[in-house]
Amino acid sequence: MEWLDKVVTDEKQVVHREELRNFVFEGEPFPLVDRQLGIRKPGRLPAALSILTTYTSDNERPPYEDAIGSDGLLRYKYQGHDPQLYTNVGLREAFHRGVPLIWFFGVGQSRYLPIYPVWIVADEPEKLQVAVALSADQRKTSTSVSTPIERRYATQTSKRRLHQPVFRERVLQAYGNSCAICHLRHSSLLDAAHIIPDHEEQGIPAVSNGLTLCKIHHAAYDHNLLGIRPNLTVHIRSDILLVVDGPMLKHGLQEMHDAHLSVPRRKVDRPNPEAIAKRYARFMTSQLGQVE
Ligand SMILES: [Zn+2]
Repeated sequence: MEWLDKVVTDEKQVVHREELRNFVFEGEPFPLVDRQLGIRKPGRLPAALSILTTYTSDNERPPYEDAIGSDGLLRYKYQGHDPQLYTNVGLREAFHRGVPLIWFFGVGQSRYLPIYPVWIVADEPEKLQVAVALSADQRKTSTSVSTPIERRYATQTSKRRLHQPVFRERVLQAYGNSCAICHLRHSSLLDAAHIIPDHEEQGIPAVSNGLTLCKIHHAAYDHNLLGIRPNLTVHIRSDILLVVDGPMLKHGLQEMHDAHLSVPRRKVDRPNPEAIAKRYARFMTSQLGQVE
């Protein structure tokens, strides 16, 4: 985890499989992920060290469905169907010992977002899964009796610590780490914007409901200073076009009027036309209240 602290930065948040396989500890090879399995249980440790979720593109079904339970905590599926398999025993041992693990979450081919430390807080052999806490607060969440407030809080933590960073990485990668409007490539200034907001039912965390936008264009999109037309060109609000101001307004907004959006190469990752149309209709409605 100390090593991950050093290799993971604001600019580079993902680690490559090779880096994890080639890890050396005290002069000896010590892979941080298993060659084939999702659970890494090193022979010389009593408990599992890491869990891994394989990357799947949005049109494939994930091999392991790590769902959020009714208590708000994420679940991680056992390896296969035998609770006594050594990797599953390793997970249980991590639970009994209360030791932290690393969750490598696939965001591209052989690329993982490391989420750590995480803890196994319940073993559910009848469902062939364990419950995973992503924060010290979540460790205190009861998996059997929890109040609605606790559940909601735990669910928010699961989304903030896992789903949101995973969504961001997937969207950024699909867009080649560059703003779809101005092509800015500075990762720390890029966001994964939702086309339909995530608190709405259609606001799904699929890449096709996301856009890589720089901070300025994300804020302008969310505040209806700019809209994206169904033909994927940029529409700058008319009153913004008339204002005289500094270079950010001139180059960053006014000159982007009618610009074509850059979209991902893969069709499945491109903006969902229905979502774009729905959002654009909202943008146009918001313009009605504007004084020309
Ligand atoms: Zn931009």
